[in-house]
This record gives sequence, C-alpha cells and structure tokens, in this order.
Amino acid sequence: FLKPIDKINALLELYPKGMAGFRRYCELMDTEPDVKDADDAIEAPRLKGNIEFRNVTFGYENHAHVLKEINLQIRAGETVALVGPSGAGKSTLCSLIPRFYEIDDGEVSIDGIDIRRMTQHSLRNQIGIVQQDVFLFNGTIRENIAYGRLDATEEQIWEAARQAHLEAMLNALPDGLDTFIGERGLKLSGGQRQRLSIARIFLKNPAILILDEATSALDTETESMIQQALEQLAHNRTTLIIAHRLATIRHADRIVVVTEEGIAEQGRHEDLIAAGGTYSRLNAAQLGVASTV
Ligand code: ATP
Repeated sequence: FLKPIDKINALLELYPKGMAGFRRYCELMDTEPDVKDADDAIEAPRLKGNIEFRNVTFGYENHAHVLKEINLQIRAGETVALVGPSGAGKSTLCSLIPRFYEIDDGEVSIDGIDIRRMTQHSLRNQIGIVQQDVFLFNGTIRENIAYGRLDATEEQIWEAARQAHLEAMLNALPDGLDTFIGERGLKLSGGQRQRLSIARIFLKNPAILILDEATSALDTETESMIQQALEQLAHNRTTLIIAHRLATIRHADRIVVVTEEGIAEQGRHEDLIAAGGTYSRLNAAQLGVASTV
C-alpha cells in the first residue's frame, strides 16, 4: 500500500535527474509510469500558481472514486488548508497537482493551462513538497540542499540554509556545509532533517508548495523554528497544507473541509466556527470539548 504522498516524495526527489531518474524509480517499483507526457506537451512557463480543479473525478486503479466532481479554485499566493477525516482524499487531491495520477474526468489547470498539456518535468519543477518523511542521501549537507539545483551558488545555498534556520547548526559544525551526513541522514535529528528539506525548497523557489503537516513529536523549540520557516516558505507562494492539527492552520487564508462526499464547506476559521458545521465539530473534537452542534 503506497500512500500518494509517498509517491509524490519519491518522484519529486528523483525528477531533478530528469526522465532517467523517473524511469529508474519505475524500474525500482516495477511499474510502468501511469502518467505520460503528451506528444505535443509544452514546457510550462514560469507559473504564478492559480490552481483550478474543474469537475475533477478520480479513483485509484481498480478502486472506487475517491474524488467526485471536485471544483476548487486557489488563487496565486493563497494559503489553503485542507482538513477533514482520515481517508477523505486530502493527500489524493494534492497529488493530482503534480499530476502523479491521471484523472478520470474533469480538468486540473494552473494559470489557465491544463496540466496535461505541460511536460511533467516542467510542471513538477515548480512544485515543492514538504513532508514528515524527508528523503536525504548519503552525501554532504551542501549536496543535500542543492539537490536538483546543481547550478546553485555558495551564496544561494547559504541563504536557503539561513531561511530554514540551519545557520546556527552549520556554524557549530567544523566542516559546515561540507559535513557528511550518514546513510539517509541518520546522524541528523528529525527537526534538522526537516529543516534541511525546507532549505532545499527555498533554493528551488517553486510557485506552488504542498505541506503535508508533520505530526511527529518534535520538541517545542524545534517545532516553532520549523513552523516559522514554513510560514516564510509559504509567503507569496500558492500553498496547500494537508492539516492534521487544526491549531496550526487557524490563520490560513482559507480552510477547505474535505469529506468522503466532497468539499463540505470552506472559509476562514472564524466563519466556519460560526457556521457550526463539520469544521466546528472537528475543531471541538480536537480541543477535547463537547461540540455545541
Ligand atoms: P489522511 O488524513 O489519513 O492522510 P487523506 O484525507 O489524505 O487521509 P487519502 O490518503 O487521500 O486521504 O486517501 C483517500 C482514499 O484513497 C482512502 O480510502 C485511501 O485508502 C485511498 N488510497 C490512497 N492511496 C491509495 C493508493 N495508492 N491506492 C489505492 N487507494 C488509495
């Protein structure tokens, strides 16, 4: 069982190496790529990040539809949090933006261009994903930050490290950016690994950001540092947050409640609380207080 977000991670980490990397991924997984570039696919222009789902219906192969006739518009620069019960389809919805799966009906477009018209490489190059399970390889911190941006300058790598709050750690290491990290980065703590993946995305500077909210227990200081870095990363970028803890997404521009029936409601935190619907019940449940509705 492969969660779509895991697939996103594996693919996004490999695509900087181009199709060779992607094919290798497919070989490893012993599958054919289920999504192929159209013969006349275009290189996506630099995207602003206006995302639109129009009547999107999707089901995993041989499974019932997970998403049915979804309509959702996200403006460039907007921060949208997706909340809802487990299994409702939040991760699936996000995995359709980098086109990891072919939809059954409808259209997903970015800046008015159907994503099926773009090459996957040029589309995915403009999407950054942060999730709990960070992919790091056996190499230096510098190589891990610059992964996919081999042309990055020393100054750009440092700037990304600073933005991800890695500077103090790097200054404390005798070899700084050239410190070698062990197989899969095992010598780093969970929080450090996550900040390293955030630095990677600062460097990549994608138009669209997908955050699969970390639920692991980080200590409070680390967590607030990561939260700050993520807020900075989301600034002026279209951001989708798959939220598990409602407390962290209160200030999102918009909260979209996804249930098995589809999008149940959407709006700002205060409005959804006042509406007394699914969100207010989820919120009450997480706060551990009795729902008033
Ligand atoms: P959670 O909050 O637990 O992360 P979610 O809202 O993100 O859940 P999804 O992970 O998108 O939900 O899953 C939606 C449905 O699709 C679930 O029924 C899940 O079992 C199913 N599903 C997810 N990935 C696959 C897959 N690769 N193949 C088949 N079914 C899948």
